[in-house]
Amino acid sequence: MGAALRLGLLAAALSAAFCAPAARAADDEAAFRALYKELVEINTTRSVGNCTQAATAMRAHLLAAGVPAADTQILAPPDRPKDGALVAILHGSDPLAKPVLLLAHIDVVEAKRADWIRDPFTLVEEDGWFYARGASDDKAMAAAFTDALVRYRKEGFKPRRGIKLALTCGEETPDVFNSVKWLTQTKPEVLSAAFALNEGAGGELDAAGKHLALQIQAGEKVYQDFKLEASDGGGHSSRPTKANPITRLAIALAKFGEYNFPVAINPVVKGYFEAESKLVDAKAAADMRAVLASSSDDAAVERLWAANPGWNSMLRTTCVVTQIDGGHAPNALPQHVSANVNCRILPGVPIADVQKQIAAVVANDKITVAAVGEPGTQTPLPPLSEAIMEPVRKVAEAMWPGVPIVPSMSTGATDGRFLNSSGVPTYGLSGMFHDAEGSRAHGLNERIRVQSLLDGRKFLYEVVKLYANSGS
Ligand SMILES: [Zn+2]
Repeated sequence: MGAALRLGLLAAALSAAFCAPAARAADDEAAFRALYKELVEINTTRSVGNCTQAATAMRAHLLAAGVPAADTQILAPPDRPKDGALVAILHGSDPLAKPVLLLAHIDVVEAKRADWIRDPFTLVEEDGWFYARGASDDKAMAAAFTDALVRYRKEGFKPRRGIKLALTCGEETPDVFNSVKWLTQTKPEVLSAAFALNEGAGGELDAAGKHLALQIQAGEKVYQDFKLEASDGGGHSSRPTKANPITRLAIALAKFGEYNFPVAINPVVKGYFEAESKLVDAKAAADMRAVLASSSDDAAVERLWAANPGWNSMLRTTCVVTQIDGGHAPNALPQHVSANVNCRILPGVPIADVQKQIAAVVANDKITVAAVGEPGTQTPLPPLSEAIMEPVRKVAEAMWPGVPIVPSMSTGATDGRFLNSSGVPTYGLSGMFHDAEGSRAHGLNERIRVQSLLDGRKFLYEVVKLYANSGS
């Protein structure tokens, strides 16, 4: 072989080595963008949408990548053919290792075309943003997870533990139907896993787009409504008695409004305030340290509450009166009055204890306190173990060096409550960063930064790979 030829071959090899991955990466991104657009543009609202159509479209991508059809299923109750979920698995080499579950819901909140600036069901890319209903919540993660499985399969990635994907329906309308609830109750083996990744956390950007903190969510508060009710025989309003139920309930609610549940700091919330105290101004940081040192420092809690209601909500169970309904005519003594008290209960606190406490604060046996609807799902706190944190740290450090990882507990609820209570520790983790305004999820003109979506896709792809080869 002549020197010139050798050099030529070397140059060709070098250019292949440097250009091919770049070219492949660009192709991958184009394929991901197309998959994301396809998913976002399939209407999956409760009113006119169809989750099964979206699940089937995502399944087609897995099949095209070579995932055997037998490893994918569309699951819907027979009487709800439009509420289908896709569950698929990339098998692991170790039959004893439980899989990691990638959970994302594909249903979206209703969106009225007339109210939006752009068509909510056409993906619009504008000035570095993607706009559409579901652009963030939760089709961003659903698309990133599906794309990751496609790429693992195409690369011939052989994980030690299986990687399970579940794209589910009804997260936004659990009172009508919810895939995760239905599956955990009727076919628990379908979603069984060592642990799961889910929506519920992203990352924080400052106004200039600088990365401030990567969040990992571990645990959610429990939603529970209570009905407080007072009744009386009524009568003509010209002859009032001392037994007016509206007055009685008003006095009770005034007392209740003054009451705060005790501060109870769990390990996740402790981790949150430790990390957050390094990011906030000196005053708030001092209050956070004070509360961590003594949970009975009421003055510090009050100041944190005033600065950010979310901070108070992480520290304690909260209950607030949200609705009131009473009386039947302007000229009649009221017969009934009721109020709805909405509680967000710390993980691990029995709902019955909260009910007892409300009754104790109200302290009036002529006012009944009853839990409304199905009892909220009690969820244990998923542990933020090293096995969970280490891969996150590793990938985060490579992508966003020096950016702190902040654990969080959601004060609202996601499908994680059903999985956590079924014994699958579930973590909110996306690597998708937002500024203070957030993604406008559920609201008008929902959006996500294009760069945040692409970064989150990369982050999840890498971190799931580490999880899939981890553990014993
Ligand atoms: Zn969501």
